Amino acid sequence: MGPMIACHCSQCNRSSSHIVAAVNVAEIGLSWTRTDHIIWYASSDFAERGFCGRCGSQMAWRQSDPVIRKGTSLMVGSFDDKDILTLERHIYVAHKAPYYDITDDLPQYPHSD
Ligand SMILES: [Zn+2]
Repeated sequence: MGPMIACHCSQCNRSSSHIVAAVNVAEIGLSWTRTDHIIWYASSDFAERGFCGRCGSQMAWRQSDPVIRKGTSLMVGSFDDKDILTLERHIYVAHKAPYYDITDDLPQYPHSD
């Protein structure tokens, strides 16, 4: 499992109403047990967002092309056990909404990390 990031991009802001916290996991070893509920929405020409078709919760973000996709970012809010997670950095800070400041000392990246 990769580091937990907070994404401040405009897409995450629009879809979550604030920021998104996620961890990237390798495509190898990732298996979905309830694919009947997941709907993949093409959120750009290269990526898609997965959400629960029953409750609407955001579940994941991934590159659309399975050939180049190495991992899938899982939305931390969907995890049952959050005790094992620690936020490590902020990404797309250059695109963050103007109504808040980042007040921790974690690394910040203007765009992707
Ligand atoms: Zn984002």
